[in-house]
Amino acid sequence: MNDRSDTNAVPPVALHFIDERVQADLAAGRYGGRVHTRFPPEPNGYLHIGHAKSICLNFGLAQRFGGLCNLRFDDTNPTTEEVEYVESIQRDVRWLGFEWGERLYYASDFFERIYGFAEELVRHGKAYVCDLGPDDMSRYRGSLTAPGTDSPYRARSVAENLDLLERMRRGEFPEGSRTLRAKIDMASPNMNLRDPVLYRILKAAHHRTGTAWSIYPTYDYAHPLCDALESITHSICTLEFENHRPLYDWVRDNCSVPARPEQIEFARLNVTYMVLSKRKLLRLVNERRVLGWDDPRMPTISGLRRRGYTAEALRTFCERIGVARFTSTVDIVQLENALRDDLNKRAPRAMAVLRPLEVLIENYPSDTVEELTARNNPEDPAAGERKVKFSKRLFIERDDFREDPPKDFYRLGPGREVRLRYAYYVKCTGFDKDPATGEVTRVHCTYDPATRGGDSPDGRKVKGTIHWVSAEHAQRAEVRLYDHLFGTEFPEEVGEGQDFMVNLNPKSLEVVRDAALEAMLIDAEPGSRWQFERHGYFCVDVVDSRPGAPVFNRAVSLKDSWAKLEKKQHAKGAERTR
Ligand code: ATP
Ligand code: MG
Repeated sequence: MNDRSDTNAVPPVALHFIDERVQADLAAGRYGGRVHTRFPPEPNGYLHIGHAKSICLNFGLAQRFGGLCNLRFDDTNPTTEEVEYVESIQRDVRWLGFEWGERLYYASDFFERIYGFAEELVRHGKAYVCDLGPDDMSRYRGSLTAPGTDSPYRARSVAENLDLLERMRRGEFPEGSRTLRAKIDMASPNMNLRDPVLYRILKAAHHRTGTAWSIYPTYDYAHPLCDALESITHSICTLEFENHRPLYDWVRDNCSVPARPEQIEFARLNVTYMVLSKRKLLRLVNERRVLGWDDPRMPTISGLRRRGYTAEALRTFCERIGVARFTSTVDIVQLENALRDDLNKRAPRAMAVLRPLEVLIENYPSDTVEELTARNNPEDPAAGERKVKFSKRLFIERDDFREDPPKDFYRLGPGREVRLRYAYYVKCTGFDKDPATGEVTRVHCTYDPATRGGDSPDGRKVKGTIHWVSAEHAQRAEVRLYDHLFGTEFPEEVGEGQDFMVNLNPKSLEVVRDAALEAMLIDAEPGSRWQFERHGYFCVDVVDSRPGAPVFNRAVSLKDSWAKLEKKQHAKGAERTR
């Protein structure tokens, strides 16, 4: 069960328990001073943020201790694995900033040797072919409180076992009719040691070995062997494998492998509002609840990337949350903050009006267009300045005007004066309304020419600053605003007979079709990231954008605390812009 410790505070980056373990091993001269880890995904789905943690951990250890890290596809289950996944996984690991060099492995590369070890186990009387079907097998296995019973096939001779194993391999027997099992201890208090299955018959084509095999090794059998064959020193996995460790050790110690890797477990990552299980993510894709594995609302690395996450932000997040042996759930705000911290430094600013409302500056000449100076990034002096066009007809956000504003609404309303960012003070003199709908269609203002650039020479203060674009020069584009994919903090917690799908947030995507953008944004490169002032950080969608028709994804709003504050004030009917 989760201990939902609040990990909101950013801990200092410190050595974690696996670092310490590796340091101790190095100090003791174990493994000849080598550090060799691996990241072993099963290619049955796209990688998610939990995998990012494992990648940063495994590749990070190798980097910190001058070691190596392999990428290994754990492809022992042909029925769920696909080449598409193999490719996406390589893309994602590289994008995160890690390189495996020559060390790309597939468990299937070792199938012949893994089979050889099985024959060896049989010859030493440590494995046997069992004819129990799945139901009988689980009955014979006993329970947590009752010991198991030996299989009637446990005493088969070595010769008979070798013959049956060979014929299993050749495909002579139907699926489910036989297995190869380790001969360990049917009374072991650890259920994993009650003669676990090493091979099952599976007549499925494999994406690499084709139809060469009719039997496939189990994870528990193949994993320690692959580790040993790749000379792994520290085999890091998540906590649910803790009570598989005795079996890991048994396989390693009973086969004549060339190395003695050790399994170390850590707590898997959970994040609020997210579901991190490939099986469940696959359902979201297959049942079309999202647009694909790379839907920007998905917790997949490809989804986060498309949304606008940087590799740096994901690595920072993984560093900050640390590595521990107790399970907890990280607040999604921590992930968002890692992105804000990164993009605040590097994303150029721009003005974009998502829900345009026309403003007419009555005393501004109709034939004049001015070029005003805007800073590209106040956090980065090197980012320089740019020109933005100003004219008589502008757009502002519909939300920035109220017909009958409360006293502490610091934006525009009849008789109110605000600063237009980088431009002038403007004062509202009136507005037009559609008599049929009651909707405000245009706001009338006057501007103060003495406030050019946004400062008043007479020291007159205004409380609000709002963004704008020149109507004549604005470019139109689609903007996609995202909310959490799930509407509850712990989406996997559901009532009796319910499914996690009930917790999907029906408002996770809002499409704004006709946002009015500062003109330069029309040429924004797919994948480029921007801060739209007051709206957040946006990334040009790499899939749906076309030349001259960018689509912007909101990666994250500006400030979580700011957003929360705003929500609260909204509720009170009072707002503040600055
Ligand atoms: P899922 O439960 O999402 O299907 P998995 O564990 O079956 O994940 P694998 O492809 O077997 O996925 O995982 C590859 C590696 O990533 C493993 O070492 C696994 O321990 C690690 N990993 C998977 N999910 C997480 C997570 N949420 N947090 C940390 N590490 C994870
Ligand atoms: Mg797995």
